[in-house]
Amino acid sequence: MAVPSRKDTLVLFDIDGTLTAPRKEATSEMIKFLQDLRKRVTIGVVGGSDLAKAKEQLGDDYLEIVDWAFPENGLNAFKDGKSIEVQSLKKYLGEDNIKRLVNWILRYLADVDIPVKRGTFIEFRNGMINVSPIGRNCNQEERDAFEQYDHVHNIRKKMVAKLETEFADLNLKFSIGGQISFDVFPQGWDKTYCLRFVETEGYKEIHFFGDKTSPGGNDYEIFEDSRTIGHTVTSPEETMRLCRELFFKD
Ligand SMILES: [Mg+2]
Repeated sequence: MAVPSRKDTLVLFDIDGTLTAPRKEATSEMIKFLQDLRKRVTIGVVGGSDLAKAKEQLGDDYLEIVDWAFPENGLNAFKDGKSIEVQSLKKYLGEDNIKRLVNWILRYLADVDIPVKRGTFIEFRNGMINVSPIGRNCNQEERDAFEQYDHVHNIRKKMVAKLETEFADLNLKFSIGGQISFDVFPQGWDKTYCLRFVETEGYKEIHFFGDKTSPGGNDYEIFEDSRTIGHTVTSPEETMRLCRELFFKD
């Protein structure tokens, strides 16, 4: 196999579970590994969390140790340490559509019959709206009880089906995850979002490494995307081992 050229090959990484243990900081071995790898190929990082969280995990100089950085799946995008785009739900949908969505959700939740309701039913974030029928500030016991109740009565599934019909014109995706809520965001605002920045740069190969590559996982779409060569890993150690096999062979 020929030595990969830095120019021709892009290697993208998920953060949590791929470059670091879940919610932990990268080891010094991992940082050194990325520096070595970067001498051989172009590297990028794509994570669901924001830049501040990515810096906590990969270090304050995170933007300088990679060629591409895509916090929030690339809604916040950096090339060579410089910002190239900042996208948000507010910008994309506009206030009228957001108001329509929020009003509809509040009305629906007011009428939905569940045993317990608490507070924070809608959480507005930069790239998504999180909706919880019980409310995010319920305690752990209430959270577990709602999950059980929802499993039997499909509260979230029924609500999502209604939202899909009502807001078909906005091309939104509704993703049920965790115990008590679901996320609302535009179609394509998963990790594949970042590919728009790199696909026109002439890379011969774009590799992606992630740990949640099964359907429903947050790496699934980019892993399956025809523009990438997907690799599933179960730990940062496996990421390093696989990359050494693929990109360090002379
Ligand atoms: Mg992950």
